[in-house]
Amino acid sequence: MTTQTEKFEFKAEVNQLLDILVHSLYTNREIFLREIISNASDALDKMRFAINSEPDLNDEIEPEITISYNEENKSVIVKDTGLGMTKEEVMANIGTIAHSGSAEFVKQAAESKESLDSLIGRFGVGFYSIFMVSDKVIVRTKSYKDGEAAIQWVSDGKNSYELSILDEELTHGTSIEIFLNEDMVERFGSEGKLKDIVSKHSNFVSFPIMIGGERVNTVTALWREPKFQIKQEQYEEFYKFLTYDSQPPISTLHFSVDAPVQFNSLLFIPEKDLDIFGMDRDNWGLDLYVRRVLIEKQNKNLLPEYLSFIKGVVDTEDLPLNISRETLQDNLLIGKISSTLTKQVLGQLEKIAKDDPEKYAQFWKAHSKIFKAGHMDFLNRDKYSKLLRFDSSKAEDETLIAFDDYIERAKEDQKEIYYSVVASREAANLNPHLEIFRSKDIEVIYLYEPIDEFVMESLREYSEFTLVAAEYADLEKLDKFESAKKENEAEPLSDEQEKDMEALAAKMKEILGEQVAEVKISERLSDSPCRLINPDGAMTSSMEKIMKAMNKDNSIPTKTMEINADHPLLRSMLNIFKTNADDEFIALSSKQLLESALLLEGYLSDPHALVGRIQNLLTKAGGWYAKLEEKD
Ligand code: ADP
Repeated sequence: MTTQTEKFEFKAEVNQLLDILVHSLYTNREIFLREIISNASDALDKMRFAINSEPDLNDEIEPEITISYNEENKSVIVKDTGLGMTKEEVMANIGTIAHSGSAEFVKQAAESKESLDSLIGRFGVGFYSIFMVSDKVIVRTKSYKDGEAAIQWVSDGKNSYELSILDEELTHGTSIEIFLNEDMVERFGSEGKLKDIVSKHSNFVSFPIMIGGERVNTVTALWREPKFQIKQEQYEEFYKFLTYDSQPPISTLHFSVDAPVQFNSLLFIPEKDLDIFGMDRDNWGLDLYVRRVLIEKQNKNLLPEYLSFIKGVVDTEDLPLNISRETLQDNLLIGKISSTLTKQVLGQLEKIAKDDPEKYAQFWKAHSKIFKAGHMDFLNRDKYSKLLRFDSSKAEDETLIAFDDYIERAKEDQKEIYYSVVASREAANLNPHLEIFRSKDIEVIYLYEPIDEFVMESLREYSEFTLVAAEYADLEKLDKFESAKKENEAEPLSDEQEKDMEALAAKMKEILGEQVAEVKISERLSDSPCRLINPDGAMTSSMEKIMKAMNKDNSIPTKTMEINADHPLLRSMLNIFKTNADDEFIALSSKQLLESALLLEGYLSDPHALVGRIQNLLTKAGGWYAKLEEKD
């Protein structure tokens, strides 16, 4: 019997989601059962948590999930003895979408052709998946809280639901009755079929799942079993249960520790970054158990954030069962577990890197973005640094290098590891700052992302080597290495010419005015006519760009221009300068050199003046050339 029936409309977002789920061709409909069981299991966890933290609560009811099939109604009934819901909770939890990313998820999922299976589980919209197999669902629930009435929620999954108060006496918990659609009866309409689905998707649920008086889920705490008894398939099955990932993990790490803290742990490295849309960054952490009892899902104190790509569980004997989640945060034992886990994970990565470079490359591709943030972990710096990978001027094809590879082929006496932030390999090959390294055959590590430079600045050194930005490499340190002989080497300047060159540089500064801090003759350029550096040499240009972006400053910074006195253009300018210091060509080419350099550095946002000048110069050059041709 029910009384006081009220009707409510679903929130627009729910309607949109329901529509996608019901019409999705890519979704495996049987996962509805996994989702409902997972909610039931959560409700049982919360109930146990309430019992642990509310000493007055007397609860005699066994925690379990019962699944049955009603032949007459063609309905699947999933019943749990969890904490249940009050009327307010039903309205808040079912009929709206709690997860903040869900609206976005709905949109993305609608556009993506990927299977929704794994996304549904991860994004906390599981309840609605029952409408993939049903047009009528009845939820009956009774909260464990004193004096709360039992509630019935009925919906056809189309726009609205009805709520009523049940006047029966129920014990706490929730039962969900799913009336199967005609075409779903064959797939799901028997206890045997339901059993198969449960053992496929929900084998690791830690509460008993009963069907027809029999317990269906057999394995509960795989991490507590002796390693030699566990088959690879079991690990993979557990991993899928835990993460909803459809691929097996690339690595599994199962171990137990006795000192300084006792704990068992089962960890996985997923093949891909599971945060596909990049908007679920908070969805990480290890599940913490105390003596097989789940204390907290996704605990974020067991591993540092730079290892947040790791999925898995930790189970310890050394914490009390009734520990509150707040005290977990700065719990000493958790801290000890965390430092052991971190060492184990880094050790495992080191092992993969050594034994199976291909697999390591896979790891790096999937998780390096997160992993790089580990430069803050001072205690594990050596291990961390060893695990970094880079592209470099001497890296072959797609193979990235480690610091150790660099050191192995460094020059004798070389005590620096040089790096440079570049846009691409191609850009690096034209980068004037790197010329001297090319000519001296010194390897340069190429960095492509802003965080890379933070990593370098934070590490500062590796083994006996100092990490140095190539842009500001100390010339004295490079002098000792021989340069390749250039074809068409320019004649050295006479003393007098050198003075003239100085005068030309001064003239160029006069022409460019405030746009440059200084114009001076470079000692390290060989192919490029000029380069720009920061006057104080304190910051690389890439770091400066990051700072400017952070301050929303898009002005062009004032740089020092270094010119290459051996470059044919500068020699021509010198000749013209000697004949007529005020020749228009000097001004034109000075401005052109500056703007081309700014363009290369990524600072020039308005190319109009530059293009106009190039056309002007080309027109002139074309004219002169045509006259020359005529004379011949
Ligand atoms: P999620 O479980 O990821 O939060 P769902 O849409 O599956 O998303 O469920 C929404 C909410 O409804 C849950 O967070 C929970 O508060 C509540 N709920 C669902 N099933 C149950 C249940 N069996 N017992 C108690 N509460 C439940």
